[in-house]
Amino acid sequence: MKNIWVIADVAEHAYELTSKAVSIGGNVTVYMNGGQQEAEECFQYGAGQVKLLPVPENTMWEKYAYSLKAEADETRPELVLVDATRRGKTLAALLGGLIDAPVITENKKLEVNGDTFLMSRTIYGGLAEKEVEVSGQTVIVSVVPGTYDKIKAAEAGSGEVTTVAAPEAGKTTVSERKAKEASTVNLAEADVVIGVGRGFGKQENVKYAEELASILGGEVACSRPVTEDLKWYPEERYIGISGQVIKPNLYLCAGVSGQIQHVYGIRDSKTIVAIDKNENAPIFKVADYYIVGDIEEVLPELILALK
Ligand SMILES: Cc1cc2nc3c(=O)[nH]c(=O)nc-3n(C[C@H](O)[C@H](O)[C@H](O)COP(=O)(O)OP(=O)(O)OC[C@H]3O[C@@H](n4cnc5c(N)ncnc54)[C@H](O)[C@@H]3O)c2cc1C
Repeated sequence: MKNIWVIADVAEHAYELTSKAVSIGGNVTVYMNGGQQEAEECFQYGAGQVKLLPVPENTMWEKYAYSLKAEADETRPELVLVDATRRGKTLAALLGGLIDAPVITENKKLEVNGDTFLMSRTIYGGLAEKEVEVSGQTVIVSVVPGTYDKIKAAEAGSGEVTTVAAPEAGKTTVSERKAKEASTVNLAEADVVIGVGRGFGKQENVKYAEELASILGGEVACSRPVTEDLKWYPEERYIGISGQVIKPNLYLCAGVSGQIQHVYGIRDSKTIVAIDKNENAPIFKVADYYIVGDIEEVLPELILALK
């Protein structure tokens, strides 16, 4: 059995990565941020041991890399799966430097062949995938949340949840923390997602997306410029290679051109429906159904028909 570590900044990601680690024959130790109950849930996914990494008061969570270095020197895991959140990615890089291990980012596939890990990773902003083989050393792999499914183990494990001692602040201390606006959306779990692109033109037009979402029982998401440039929706709602990856039954978008960085986040959707006024919009290449037309004409008609 492979000695595999899962390190996660978010409980849900710990479950996904644990499921993947178990599926490739791992004896899994989970290090996670979260509460006691969330930690205990890891056993349902097949974890053998669970250790909490609570957010330290006066320094950054990423600094747990120093505590983990000491544990890694002792137990030398063959594989370390880290969730690719901002904190996770920073921790992965720091730990890689500390234990002199390679860090493979943007992981998509992962298999084991004897002593070798066969992986693929996304390159060129999602345009291509690169195959990677690593053997004979600890390898750290950062995984975009949602890449692997969480699957309850046939036989749940059990054990004690312990807590790792907080890292020392050193030269960088945290003097204040400000809470982000509470997240109200779980796009990864949504069955229907309505995508808003820059083609909506003006903010008042998002009412069409909101209404469609309400009729179809879905969530509204958007492209990155809608969040970053137009500021119509918070960051947690944008989809793509640098945002959320979704797998809904239906992704219905309008005014989204379909650049590869966006498509990366939607391509596992079961059905994609796109509306765009440009008949050559790249989104039509990945859509199962599409309508060429103006948002202000098509969306009110669609809403009427669905009602
Ligand atoms: C490193 C990097 C990472 C990135 N990561 C992401 C990411 O994670 N997610 C992401 O979304 N983007 C990402 N981007 C940006 C990406 O490249 C595109 O710029 C972005 O996805 C385009 O957003 P959009 O489709 O909303 O806008 P546009 O590309 O401007 O498309 C607007 C579309 O609306 C149509 N339109 C305009 N008016 C109307 C109308 N009245 N009716 C109907 N259709 C209309 C147009 O024909 C066009 O097709 C990234 C870019 C880089 C460089």
